[in-house]
Amino acid sequence: MTLQTAASAVPARIVKPAPRVPPNLADYDATCAAFSWARAGAELDGLPAGGLNIAHEAVDRHLGGPREARTAIRWIGKAGARRELSYGDLARQTNRFANALRNLGVLPGERVFVLMGRLPELYIAVLGALKARCVVTPLFSAFGPEPIATRAEMADARLLVTTPELYQRKVKGLRARLPGLKEVVVVGEAPTGEPGVVGWDALVSTAPDRFTIEATDPESMALLHFTSGTTGRPKGAVHVHGAVVAHAVTGRYALDLHDDDVFWCTADPGWVTGTSYGIVAPLVAGVTNVVVEAEFDAETWYGVLEREKVSVWYTAPTAIRMMMKLGAAAVQGHALPALRFMASVGEPLNPEAVAWGVEAFGLPFHDNWWQTETGGIMIANFAALDIKPGSMGRPLPGITAAIVRRSGSGVEIVETPMTDGELALKAPWPSMMRGYLHEDERYRKCFVDGWYLTGDLAKRDDEGYFWFVGRADDVIKSAGHLIGPFEVESALIEHPAVAEAGVIGIPDPTVGEMVKAFVALKPGFEASEALNRELLGHARKRLGAAVAPKAIEFRANLPKTRSGKIMRRLLKARELGLPEGDLSTLESDEQK
Ligand code: AMP
Repeated sequence: MTLQTAASAVPARIVKPAPRVPPNLADYDATCAAFSWARAGAELDGLPAGGLNIAHEAVDRHLGGPREARTAIRWIGKAGARRELSYGDLARQTNRFANALRNLGVLPGERVFVLMGRLPELYIAVLGALKARCVVTPLFSAFGPEPIATRAEMADARLLVTTPELYQRKVKGLRARLPGLKEVVVVGEAPTGEPGVVGWDALVSTAPDRFTIEATDPESMALLHFTSGTTGRPKGAVHVHGAVVAHAVTGRYALDLHDDDVFWCTADPGWVTGTSYGIVAPLVAGVTNVVVEAEFDAETWYGVLEREKVSVWYTAPTAIRMMMKLGAAAVQGHALPALRFMASVGEPLNPEAVAWGVEAFGLPFHDNWWQTETGGIMIANFAALDIKPGSMGRPLPGITAAIVRRSGSGVEIVETPMTDGELALKAPWPSMMRGYLHEDERYRKCFVDGWYLTGDLAKRDDEGYFWFVGRADDVIKSAGHLIGPFEVESALIEHPAVAEAGVIGIPDPTVGEMVKAFVALKPGFEASEALNRELLGHARKRLGAAVAPKAIEFRANLPKTRSGKIMRRLLKARELGLPEGDLSTLESDEQK
């Protein structure tokens, strides 16, 4: 690896020697020029009955050939248990679950929620429900009852698959609030005597292992992924079966998946990366997909890379920074000759982390960018191209990206290199969201002059590489997860002592941003250590560890606009000692 070092310790450019395996995208410009989504779509199978179905492309398409016996999912359990599902096994098991849904009367288009850790049944449930043409929403298992209930209510969840423990702790108490949730399927020991609760084994063991997927309109809803906005409830981003074309293309070009790869995406399917790239893209590519049940632990992870001979690894900056803390020596005790491509997504990947990849693994991390709404990778550092550490890379073939400024009712393209503006993508592409559930106006506002506006600020250099600058809104990115401040504030003000709450993200060297809340108390309540702990506990119980604030600070009152909105921007500026900016809308102010 040649490192052309610039002034700083991190090279400005990593010029890579020819990769060990010829990249799928060898000539970026030629591939972009020749690319068409229609041709990419034509390379997929399509359903015998007509249309396009994600589960057919991911599973059934591989039957009858050499891939049928290949391991599709290699599951490594927390306690060291292993389970291998070949593409043939996965086809039969997903057929059983699709038949089980049909037997229960769950109709195409109805919503199937999945709330569990990374167990094999999660993967079977998602793909089986897609075969039955149900709409799937995977939820993060560290969500507390409130985020679960909000999402299930919004989507009118019909059936939920979970574990006995999560059922007891989080779901049982919500049943009365969710009358549309007719069945809960429990993987493992199902509680007895609970109406509307059925055990997974009893359900699938009696269901036939043959299932014919009915004609599926490529524009029909397949996945509903919730994401956070600055205001109001979470947004349900609607994705369709046709998105699989983008999953196939990005798996091939951005992750460089080849037929004999062993691939590991460390993301949880409760977040979009764990679905698009932890389930769909690797299976569409026909590779072996490693699934690790345990949470992050550097030694466990290095052990997985070594033992499973992972060749392509897709992970995230928070995990990379945690590994960096332990040093490169910890990696070098492991023989990783199979590992040939490493990618990262979800938050800014600092240049030091890219360079550390070279030091520790002999390979750089390839940063890429996308978001729930885009459904798949949009901007990437490709295997064949140099990396400029700190840059997210270049647009995928088939994607036109630009830096724009809103002007009147339209947008102006910012042509000057390295000038900040909003990152915009020319609409449409196959995995573009087709709506925000029940929120047409909010959806419509994302598109101006044929551009999808991402809500991220970025810049573009004179070679067409994009550089992340920040978010245009108040949404918080912590450990790769988007957290809506409004959802956290709403949970805090449910507490009898809380009059107002303002929630911001403050920079954290490991997890990117840490959730911090500012709270004004109601008359009669005194700020104290005990109340601080109580509020942290209250938020954690309602929201779950993934969303709850890590710190709370009491204030006599919070800065608000004349219309009564809490000025999070000002809270943040003051917390970080930054310029306070335009204060013309400020009405009440604690510091006055
Ligand atoms: P989500 O919808 O949860 O996947 O979050 C998407 C958001 O994460 C984007 O809009 C960005 O703000 C951020 N993000 C994703 N990938 C990157 C990246 N490579 N660099 C910087 N920010 C990123």
